[in-house]
Amino acid sequence: MPFSHRSLQSILALALAGVLAPGAAPSEGQRTMRYKAGSANAAHAWQQDVRGQLAELLHLTDLAKSRATIPLEAETTGREDRDGFILETVRLRSTKGRSITCALAKPSPTPSGALPAVVCIHGHQGTQMTPFNPKEDIYKEFGAALAKRGFVVISTNVGQHEVYETGRTLMGERLWDLMRCVDYLQSLTEVDPKRIGCAGLSLGGEMAMWLGAMDERIAATVSAGFLTYMDQMEQNHCICWKFDGLRERVDYPDIYCLIAPRALQCQNGLKEPETQFTVPLARKAMEEVKPIYRDLGAAGNVELLVHEGAHEIALEPLIAFLDRHMKRPTAPQKDPAGR
Ligand SMILES: [Zn+2]
Repeated sequence: MPFSHRSLQSILALALAGVLAPGAAPSEGQRTMRYKAGSANAAHAWQQDVRGQLAELLHLTDLAKSRATIPLEAETTGREDRDGFILETVRLRSTKGRSITCALAKPSPTPSGALPAVVCIHGHQGTQMTPFNPKEDIYKEFGAALAKRGFVVISTNVGQHEVYETGRTLMGERLWDLMRCVDYLQSLTEVDPKRIGCAGLSLGGEMAMWLGAMDERIAATVSAGFLTYMDQMEQNHCICWKFDGLRERVDYPDIYCLIAPRALQCQNGLKEPETQFTVPLARKAMEEVKPIYRDLGAAGNVELLVHEGAHEIALEPLIAFLDRHMKRPTAPQKDPAGR
């Protein structure tokens, strides 16, 4: 007999927990709202249903409804000239009782006309300054690079691990702060409100997924170093991604499905450690995201970018993707102003 009774039992337990085959048939009572390919109408209805349920679980429904009654009260508290852009510090009111600090980068000299904008999001241990920090090399200064290319860039700190306000959730508060960054971008005369994207690495890739999924104002999403399955995240990873009711309904591919038909690039590196955001799991997950793009007639709007690196941003493909989906088709590529 190949297995003792005990080892057979533990293998069965592992299989039930989904450990042996991440992304395979979910355990009973999990992922009950998994996306199943169908028509465009069915896809839209599924998205509305899932988005509504997730907003409830994130404790965001009341905030979204009362958004108009929470003024941004934006206040610029700092300003410095950098090479090719101006970097400002801005305070915004996020909820009635809480404010956030943002870094806001504007191309300099500022090109004429309304500009595309990107919410740039850091990972664990980062801050709102991470996308502009040359010392944090896995990020490739992606915030600075986008500002130099003619995008307005905003970033805020979503690295907290405590819930700030009673009745909220950690992921809900992180996501809401990012949605307020979008509110602020839409209020700026320099920004084209129809061309706002988001991009991030690691926890930032996760938050880019959430922002793209839950906020339909986001026109394009780049989610780097994150596409995987929840079974993989149950081990060897900070558990801050998890909240009550999440796994019962969806897995990560389903959340990415909420972004369709809007543009989505996921990036995963071939040198990711086996316990982390590996390319084989990302490929498998991406196969579960593609059907809804097909159902919505937008198969060309989604891609998995596999790169040679590790847990890091692949900068050129990120910029090329956002250029392709967020700059006007007639914009010259080599204009000195970066537009
Ligand atoms: Zn965490």
